[in-house]
Amino acid sequence: MILQALSVFPEMFEPVMSTSILGRARKAGLFEFQAFDLRDWTHDRHRTVDDEPYGGGQGMLMKVEPIFEAVEAISQDGPRPHVVFFTPCGVPFSQQTAERLASYDRLLFVCGRYEGMDERAYSLADECISIGDYVLTGGELPAMVVMDAVVRLLPGALGDEMSNKDESFATGDDGGLLEYSQYTRPAEFRDMRVPEVLLSGDHAKVDAWRRADALERTCRWRPDLIETACLSEAERARAEE
Ligand code: SAM
Repeated sequence: MILQALSVFPEMFEPVMSTSILGRARKAGLFEFQAFDLRDWTHDRHRTVDDEPYGGGQGMLMKVEPIFEAVEAISQDGPRPHVVFFTPCGVPFSQQTAERLASYDRLLFVCGRYEGMDERAYSLADECISIGDYVLTGGELPAMVVMDAVVRLLPGALGDEMSNKDESFATGDDGGLLEYSQYTRPAEFRDMRVPEVLLSGDHAKVDAWRRADALERTCRWRPDLIETACLSEAERARAEE
């Protein structure tokens, strides 16, 4: 997979893209990453990428011409990228979106700054993504959030192919719940004891406990997920209690 980012702060990406799981996956050749500086597609001495909004108002907007020139130039080599723009007005990001994006050969992430972009720039977007109902100073962190979520889904990225399966929001046959509670040694810490079943070595009982715990946690913390989760009839009845 090829991941590319277009930004006025391309230097923000390298520490994240070369650390931990992303760094290992990149070194192993699971994906390539390139960050492009939007200012390389400006034509004035000051390498200007922003201007005042028509009609007045606060702040500056990203100009349309450098974005068009950059996206067109970057897209010229190789397979056409799937182009993602980041904006708080986009579709909220989810695990399902991460899974869908992980199936593309090439993704180009376009990061906004200032008060956002000239609306015409968005006509280049195959999709617009928001990472939540809050406003950040730029699209670089959202792009890195999405790249992190996508890369860890690439086969081999986590080392253990099963690691994604039971996770929160997973979309398998029995997916859609939050992940169950997990514990590691010691078995007892300040009067807090690990549930006995997890120490029993009985895998069927452990699986049943985890499923019930995942259901209970989801009902408590994210009841909005219950409607779309894949539940048995008995589980759905328990969730509705
Ligand atoms: N004026 C815009 C609005 O009210 O919708 C906000 C612009 S924001 C200060 C600057 C840039 O940060 C945006 O163009 C976008 O690329 C990025 N950004 C900020 N919050 C975001 C979010 N929640 N999701 C995705 N991108 C975001």
